[in-house]
Order: sequence, then C-alpha cells, then structure tokens
Amino acid sequence: MNALPSAIIDALRAVLGPENATLHEPRFQGHEQRYVQDCIASTFVSSVGAYVDRFERELADYTGARRAVAVVNGTAALQIALQLAGVEAKDEVIVPALTFVATANAVHYLGAVPHFADSAKNTLGLDPTALRDWLGATAERSGDAWRNRHTGRRLRALVPMHTFGHPCDLNALLSVAHDYRLTLVEDAAESLGSRYHSRHTGTFGRLGTLSFNGNKIITTGGGGAILTDDKHLADHAKHLSTTAKVPHRWDYMHDEIGYNFRMPNINAALGCAQLEQLPKFLASKRRLAARYREAFAGLEQASLMQEPQGCESNYWLQTLILDEAAADQRDAILTATNDAGLMTRPAWTLMHQLPPYRDFPLAPLPMAESLARRLINLPSSAGLA
Ligand SMILES: *Cc1c(COP(=O)(O)O)cnc(C)c1O
Repeated sequence: MNALPSAIIDALRAVLGPENATLHEPRFQGHEQRYVQDCIASTFVSSVGAYVDRFERELADYTGARRAVAVVNGTAALQIALQLAGVEAKDEVIVPALTFVATANAVHYLGAVPHFADSAKNTLGLDPTALRDWLGATAERSGDAWRNRHTGRRLRALVPMHTFGHPCDLNALLSVAHDYRLTLVEDAAESLGSRYHSRHTGTFGRLGTLSFNGNKIITTGGGGAILTDDKHLADHAKHLSTTAKVPHRWDYMHDEIGYNFRMPNINAALGCAQLEQLPKFLASKRRLAARYREAFAGLEQASLMQEPQGCESNYWLQTLILDEAAADQRDAILTATNDAGLMTRPAWTLMHQLPPYRDFPLAPLPMAESLARRLINLPSSAGLA
C-alpha cells in the first residue's frame, strides 16, 4: 500500500482503536424510549401533540431564534423557507455548488432556478468575495431588483450552507445580500450547535432551516425545522406545513395551497430526548476533533478542517483536506480506509456536475472544484472519543 493511505489509516487507528467505525451514527442514550412510549400511550402520534410543540419551543430557546417550526425533513423546511422569502417561479437563487443536493432541489421545487456559486477555502461555504465579484459582472439593476444580465431572470435569494457544521462568513454574505437585494435564507441543516461570533447559525437570515435526518448531529428519524425571528413568517410557515387549514371546529377550509409537511409528534418525542443530549454530543465531537488533530499532526500532504476564526463549529463531520499535490491519491485513500473498516467519504458531487443541474447558471467554481477533489470525511459519530 502507498505511504499516504497507510499513514492515514495509522492516524485513524491511533484515535479509533482496532474497531470498525462508520461515518456517523445516531446515539440513543437518553430519554428516547421513555418519550416515544409516552407519545404512543397518549395516542397523539401524528401531526398534533405536546412533543411537537415542546420541540419547537426548545429549538427556539436553544438557537435563540424567536420561533421554530418543525416539519417532516430539512428539504421541506428549505422549500417552505424559500417560498416565504418570496422566491417565485423563474427567479434565480444563489446556492453553493458544494452542497448536498437538497439545497438545489428545494429551489427547483418552487419552479425557481439554482445559480451555483463558489466556496471559500477557510469555511468550505459560499465565498463572499468571489460572489461579490461575480455579481458585479453578472447582475444588472432593474427597478428594485437585480437581474442576471445573461438570463434576464430576477436574482431573489441567497442560500449559504454551513458545510459539515463550519459556519460560513455570514457578515460578509449579509452585506452582499443587502447590496443586491437578495433575501438570505440559511441552510443550517448541518450546523445545529454551531455559532458565528457567538450567535447560532440559522438565525442570521430572514429564515434558516435545520435537518434532523438520521445522519445529522441529532435526529428525529426524519425531520427538519424552520427558524425565524418574524412571528408572522413563523405562523405562515406552520400554516403552509399543515395544508393551510383555517382553524375551525369542523369546517375543512384551506385558504391557500399548503403542504402536508408537519413533523409528527412521535418524531418530535425522539427529538426532545435528542436535544437534551446535544451539549454532550458537541463536547464529544470537539474531543474527537482534538484527538484527530494530534494523530494527524505529523502527516504531510493533508490537513484537518478547523473551525473558522470567530466561530464555534459543531464538528458534525470531521474533514481531512489533501494538499493539491496529494489530490490524485484520494481514491486510493477512500479504498484503503473503507477496506480497513474505517468509513470515509468524499465530498458531494458538485451540483453543476449532476445530470439534472448540468445546464444551470453558474459562477466560476475554482475552489469548489479543487475542494471536491481533495475533501475526505472521517468517522465522526459522537461517542467515538
Ligand atoms: C441533510 C441536509 C439537508 C436536508 O436534508 P433532509 O434529509 O431533507 O432532512 C439540506 N441541506 C444540507 C446541506 C444537508 O446536509
């Protein structure tokens, strides 16, 4: 075996011991059984119940958002958040090329068009400097809005995503959003517990969204939430997610086209128990990051992703970044580590390289393309350290 793959396996083994390790698995060592059983006993297992109200309250308290609205998954949360941000069919919405496909899909579900932008090396999220340059060359003013001068479509929203839990440069992105009249909606699916200058991610934009899928830092099985400080937007989000039914003792009156996106109470029961353990998960992930840092310290040709300056990352997925010169060894490293029972994964295929998003507007993407060839996610579950 080559020197680099075997050095990486040695470093992983020094931290993880001889056991196999998955990339990320959930941990249920709190009140999960008790709350779920209590939920079943109550018979309120579906879209109404005490746990879903409690989960929303506790999410708002934890994140500092005025309101949280729980929905069936993070993709649905993004779809509703974008709709409430004013995204309409044929608008363009700027999203990172380096993201999970859900970010682009949510835009497309609204009939809008994702417009892919580059990432910054220090955050792995949208690069505000490159974006400002790109919009300077690409956007033209038309009345109150800005349009893409090549497609004629209105530029409506900006969706930063906090990659693997690392906050992107929100102040600079907010400034770009302000100058180009873009509504900022944060895809904080991966960053529950992450803070930018002490404030929780997902609370900087007009709306923000979370995911509680099984592989995220806490899980409800499947689930998501919309965060916002605007009470009216929160009420509207809840209305849209519950088929837009107007409350009444018996009438079925729906005053717009809504969705069946409400988080079931039984999933929220799991979520309440998981949220209680979030501080423990965060501490465990920071310990793991520190131990990886020690174990990989002597390794040339690669470095570990660290939280950006001024930020506190949840270290959801630990990330090794190969130097340019070692990029051609990525697949050998992925093969060797997975063969050894140590689950590692490359970054997502960039959005503009996926067949359904091949012909969409895009900025130059030199850093996203470089990072996508060099990123490797390492075993990251809470409890590994
Ligand atoms: C997980 C995730 C989502 C939402 O995923 P769901 O599986 O629908 O909850 C959205 N964006 C990103 C970047 C994600 O990682």
